[in-house]
Amino acid sequence: MTFEEIKNEEQNYMMHTYGRFNAAVVSGKGATAKDESGKEYIDFTSGIGVNCLGYCDDGWVKAVASQAATIQHISNLYYSPLQTEVSKKLCELTGMDKVFLCNSGAEANECAIKIARKYSFDKYGKGRQKILTLVNSFHGRTVTTLAATGQDVFHNYFFPFTEGFDYVTANDAEDLEGKLGEDVCALFIELVQGEGGVMPLSDEFVSAAAKLCQEKDILLMIDEVQTGMSRTGTVYCYEQYGIKPDVITSAKGLGGGVPIGACICSEKLSGVMTAGTHGTTFGGNPIACAAAKEVLSRVTTKEFLEEVNKKGAYIREKLSALPNVREIRGKGMMIGIVTEKNNAKEIAVKCVENGLLILTAKDLLRLLPPLNISYEEIDKGIEILSRVMDM
Ligand SMILES: *Cc1c(COP(=O)(O)O)cnc(C)c1O
Repeated sequence: MTFEEIKNEEQNYMMHTYGRFNAAVVSGKGATAKDESGKEYIDFTSGIGVNCLGYCDDGWVKAVASQAATIQHISNLYYSPLQTEVSKKLCELTGMDKVFLCNSGAEANECAIKIARKYSFDKYGKGRQKILTLVNSFHGRTVTTLAATGQDVFHNYFFPFTEGFDYVTANDAEDLEGKLGEDVCALFIELVQGEGGVMPLSDEFVSAAAKLCQEKDILLMIDEVQTGMSRTGTVYCYEQYGIKPDVITSAKGLGGGVPIGACICSEKLSGVMTAGTHGTTFGGNPIACAAAKEVLSRVTTKEFLEEVNKKGAYIREKLSALPNVREIRGKGMMIGIVTEKNNAKEIAVKCVENGLLILTAKDLLRLLPPLNISYEEIDKGIEILSRVMDM
């Protein structure tokens, strides 16, 4: 099929839920993708932070392929050693206590929301169900995670949304304190707001929030769906803030390209979700778990994390010399660029034409390159970006 044919068929047969770039990506290796005509693209997106080991990494392919040839699925009515291995590793990495495996970021967040409400219900009874999130946050596309998302543009059409959310201005401890009423059971936050514009929270705000939560037995829940899996230079971003969350949610990079999510809770919450209170058909699927096991064994080593930090710094340094750059934000290899001309979307479209896949978030350019991208690919990508920024 030609690109025009692919595009037409998409128009004919798929719901028009995505604003897509003009490219059909059909194969890839490392941080280089190919379209249907064989044209190559440097990938600064990882499929929105998913392909943390790039396209078709040898070890990852082997893990997935050999698992597909061993057992592809088994119901959660039976035990699965791969699930327990992945869960154990997540607990060891975080010092937390129990894991629920699911299939996406939104699902991991749904689990977190259910844990918060049930913990509070079990301990305090009805009426303490409100969850505070941040203005400009993003937590997913289900009706409940849309309600959790602190952006009015997402609160349309699908009424009624799930009740019991309120929104605090990021980095405003006073606003938080004012909203921490008797009916609040949890604070649920991203530490670097991804979709909201690659906006890291301040140390002061996060420390103050952690302290307030602890004093009032309010759960501190961190949405690490985008910041997790070593993206920001530590396995999870909360490590950089010196806090101990009650719940962490993880997805995107966790499977390196297959759908898997995890909701991880502390010891205090280990007994909250009892038999029959939660479940999913696909959660902890063996192929997804084999992929996650490979990812976890690779991206969490000291050497790998050092590389992520080195490459993050290298990319930032290169970017700061480009035209049309006003500000560079983010942590590690989660990078946002505010442009002088406020033309991120236009730049991203032109980058695709010129062989570079790059994201936007609000009115920023956003880079989430594969964590193991080569320096050669970084240089090639920046060279394309530099030419486009100069237009
Ligand atoms: C992408 C994202 C989600 C939603 O994940 P899905 O897998 O698309 O459901 C939730 N939270 C954050 C912070 C995200 O970046």
